[in-house]
Amino acid sequence: MKNLHQQTAFVTGGSRGIGAAIVRRLAHEGANVAFTYQSSKEKAEALAAEVSALGVKALAIAADSKDPQAVQAAVNQAVTYFGRLDILVNNAGIGNIKPLEECSLDDFDETMAVNVRAVFAASRAAIPHMHAGGRIVNIGTCLVDRITFGGCALYSTSKAAITGLTKALARELGPKKINVNIVHPGPIDTDMNPSDGPSADYQRSNTALDTFGKTEDIAAMVAFLAGPESGFITGAGFTIDGGTNI
Ligand code: NDP
Repeated sequence: MKNLHQQTAFVTGGSRGIGAAIVRRLAHEGANVAFTYQSSKEKAEALAAEVSALGVKALAIAADSKDPQAVQAAVNQAVTYFGRLDILVNNAGIGNIKPLEECSLDDFDETMAVNVRAVFAASRAAIPHMHAGGRIVNIGTCLVDRITFGGCALYSTSKAAITGLTKALARELGPKKINVNIVHPGPIDTDMNPSDGPSADYQRSNTALDTFGKTEDIAAMVAFLAGPESGFITGAGFTIDGGTNI
């Protein structure tokens, strides 16, 4: 039997990049998957059709993470559609990598809304529906533990916030046997951070493996943390960065 047979997952930002790989991987493991997107309607619907062909249910929901009501409504829509919720993956995120003096207060508010408040909102909406064995997996960044270039003030601050939230929720939800962990990717080839982008060679040279990672590398760790073999792991961070932070 597949690892996530009859489990139901909700993934934010599943239309592209790391989120899409997570949706695919969880579906391959047997989970029904609902996922949000902001504007990539066609990609989201194509992905839902692709994973439905695996024999699981899939639901693509337009929900801007900047709007906490939309995030909460999306979680509720998924619960109504599937009848249960076992796994929450808070993946949607934005970069805003630039020097602090070029960051406006609007940039601050936008980054915090998507990278932090939406994680809070989705968790708040999901937890009442989750039961023993439930899993929350947040997506952070290796730029929380070690900052290898300038321009990360806003981004690293936001991801440090959800690292704290991960630990706090792990402690709070432990008695309910719901596990909460965070995965910290290094350079992963996506639209946000293309492997041929302006800083790609520098990022690549910072890894021990001299390479960018693939979205599937992150999805594999998320699937493990979402699955039955991670029962004694909670409040932990997993850095998948090709050795960037060693
Ligand atoms: P991409 O920009 O490639 O994809 C982002 C995804 O999130 C898309 O599905 C997008 O939807 C969705 N999204 C973005 N903003 C919103 C929003 N306001 N509301 C709803 N959905 C939204 O990013 P990555 O796949 O690279 O990043 C995924 C996560 O991994 C992020 O949290 C990021 O910080 C983190 N990360 C990425 C790294 C990398 O090197 N790629 C390194 C470290 C961490 P739509 O298609 O509709 O725009």
